Amino acid sequence: MRLLGVALLFGLLTVLTQIGGVVYLVARWLSRKAKITGLAARLAIFVTLYVSATAATPFLAPAFGRIALSCFERGSLQVQSPLYCILNRNYLTPVAKRAAEALSVAMEQKHPGTVTLVLDANFPFLGGFPLLPHLSHNDGRKLDVAFYYRDEAGGVLNRVTRSPIGYFAFEEPVADAVLPCRGRTDLLTLRWDMGFLQGLFPAWTLDEVRTGAALRWLASEGQEFGVERIFIEPHLSQRLGVSGQNLGFQGCRAARHDDHIHFQVRE
Ligand SMILES: [Zn+2]
Repeated sequence: MRLLGVALLFGLLTVLTQIGGVVYLVARWLSRKAKITGLAARLAIFVTLYVSATAATPFLAPAFGRIALSCFERGSLQVQSPLYCILNRNYLTPVAKRAAEALSVAMEQKHPGTVTLVLDANFPFLGGFPLLPHLSHNDGRKLDVAFYYRDEAGGVLNRVTRSPIGYFAFEEPVADAVLPCRGRTDLLTLRWDMGFLQGLFPAWTLDEVRTGAALRWLASEGQEFGVERIFIEPHLSQRLGVSGQNLGFQGCRAARHDDHIHFQVRE
């Protein structure tokens, strides 16, 4: 029973943070060695080790071909929430980082003051290790970019997303939109609707101008920076008036892409 608990916790921490599971095992071993039994003390050991490992990872990851997006940066490109850095989900290849920076610079030039927010990137280590629930974020070349929003009165909002983590605030299709997944009832699917959450988010609207500009940049100029594939729901690319060979649809069983833009760079 105890072993099952350890395995579950190891699995959960590994899936969420990649290094957390191993840190947990080390912390557990240390606590046993030092004969520490109190829960608070054992938790303190884990947290100390986890924070140290997370702080050291940006220096180790480059040996594995990935670099970190900093959660302390306050320029035109920012990580949407410190959570992404705390969970080690902010790593990507140098090419992907350069593309994201170039996107944010282009956006700031076109719409001064605009901060481009990024969400899940990749874990720091091991090619092929997926960053759930994004199966494809496993090689450092994928990055999710948050949408840009306007408030209820139509005023431009900056550095905020409707959902606290940037995901799951879905844009509902307008009438006559292209809907490739309509009527499907897949049991095995990552296409969650999260209906129970939708009412909790502020009623801000998608900033079609800036979100369209970002999508257009990725589909055109972005190619010079290595962008080779972009995922967004067809009803949104249609609404934003953006098309391109590299603009794709992730399929009906993958996560919905009407709450963020996903892009991939070449190797
Ligand atoms: Zn993605």
